[in-house]
Amino acid sequence: MLPPAILAEFAALLGTERARTDADTLALYAQDETPGRCTPEAVLFPSSHEQVAGCVRLALKHKLPITPRGAGSGNVGGAQPTPGSVVLSFECMNRIVEFDPANRLIVVEPGVVTQDIDRLARTAGLMYAPDPGSGAYSRIGGNLAMNAAGPRAVKYGVTRDHVLGLRAVAGDGRELRTGGRTSKYATGYDLTRLLIGSEGTLALITEATLKLMPAPERTVSLRVCYASDTAACAAVQRIMQQPVVPSALEFMDRRSIEAITEYGVSVEANVMRSGRSQFGAAEGLAPGTEAVLMVEADGPAEDIPRQIAALENALRGDGLLELQTGFTPAEIQNLWTARKSLSHAVKKIAPLKINEDVVVPVSRLAELVAAIDAMGTLHRLPIVSFGHAGNGNLHVNLMVHPDDEDEMARAETCLRELVETVLRLGGTLSGEHGIGTKKRQFLPLEIEPDTLTLMRELRRVFDPQGILNPGKKLPD
Ligand SMILES: Cc1cc2nc3c(=O)[nH]c(=O)nc-3n(C[C@H](O)[C@H](O)[C@H](O)COP(=O)(O)OP(=O)(O)OC[C@H]3O[C@@H](n4cnc5c(N)ncnc54)[C@H](O)[C@@H]3O)c2cc1C
Repeated sequence: MLPPAILAEFAALLGTERARTDADTLALYAQDETPGRCTPEAVLFPSSHEQVAGCVRLALKHKLPITPRGAGSGNVGGAQPTPGSVVLSFECMNRIVEFDPANRLIVVEPGVVTQDIDRLARTAGLMYAPDPGSGAYSRIGGNLAMNAAGPRAVKYGVTRDHVLGLRAVAGDGRELRTGGRTSKYATGYDLTRLLIGSEGTLALITEATLKLMPAPERTVSLRVCYASDTAACAAVQRIMQQPVVPSALEFMDRRSIEAITEYGVSVEANVMRSGRSQFGAAEGLAPGTEAVLMVEADGPAEDIPRQIAALENALRGDGLLELQTGFTPAEIQNLWTARKSLSHAVKKIAPLKINEDVVVPVSRLAELVAAIDAMGTLHRLPIVSFGHAGNGNLHVNLMVHPDDEDEMARAETCLRELVETVLRLGGTLSGEHGIGTKKRQFLPLEIEPDTLTLMRELRRVFDPQGILNPGKKLPD
């Protein structure tokens, strides 16, 4: 726990209620969504950019590592406290600073809940496009730090594509403004793109100017059942080779479907409820279904029939069992609730989920899915795969029992094989969840030594004392 004299300095800056070392608070912030915990020395709740800058200055003075934190929903250990660190939570920085529909932008503090940005934008006929499955509770600062994305990324891109500028405090205490407020910007180096996805290792983001875009007039969903993973992956490839880009193209394998069917989940409440779902992606599927695609089209109402016709055409092929459209808005909501609940639903298969977030070029997706199937059989592990197929991004979940040493050893071997397979197929380790503590040992397999060295040097420029999220993102 932080020595009283140092705690008093933070309390003088933030107020005693916002510099906490009580056991309950320390316990609450000892973990994020990733398995494992580490009790921090203190938890700080700054409420302004100036207070964040003050916290960094004090941390530098006392050589204290800082673990930045949004909602703690990350699943690579990014917000899990580094030993000896203070957690700096952005929860109290949750103001909308400016909403400017005329210029299609919004300025927000990092603690604003992701979904609330989209909700506000919709009141002016606009939308904030990035839609991570955790958007009902994740904070925009966490999304920016991880370059989060969701189903809509296939058409609209990832968080990085929707940011005009940032305000931040670097690890050496310097205060930065990057980018601007305009949709075109070619001035100076693009530090905005550098900070996005840097996982809190270069600077603490204290404000973001985000791009908004016109909300689509209409959205239509399709649910398509296939007799095999291969047939579904072939359909994904056909879709991505024709000109109509869907606004979502999600894949679920057989185990994912079983997980939803068996364990109905409420994402709204972010709470698991056992029992069958009332309606979901899994209900009433055609007999023999081994894989499901959820596809969405959006745009002006008069253009929807053309888009649906093109998508249906591409979806038809060997192994198609059933293609359904015409869902009611409530049914569409339930389809997506079921899909977005998968991250939690799979945990009922085994207590520990080793959650990978790999990406391959879309044309190699079928090979990846087949390889994963073979690995599951070889290593005798239940593996659940689902994800953003239109981007070639699969969440591959190895379900294990942590107290079963043999199973854990098999999972380790399987994990390495998975990473090697993904890289052989021309892919990458992470599409959206980031690296954190969980995947950094694999980085040298993907990133060349000189590039990795440059990344380390860059980190030292921003944070020479290494106080921001040490032990995360890059290998030691
Ligand atoms: C059920 C579920 C579904 C999910 N679905 C998706 C999905 O569809 N797409 C997706 O991309 N992710 C998804 N995730 C992962 C996670 O929600 C995202 O990574 C999200 O962006 C994390 O936001 P957060 O506010 O919880 O951040 P945290 O987990 O608290 O932090 C994430 C990282 O950001 C850093 N950080 C936080 N705030 C700041 C800041 N202001 N400045 C600098 N660094 C900061 C932290 O140190 C940490 O490294 C899912 C997670 C769960 C549990």
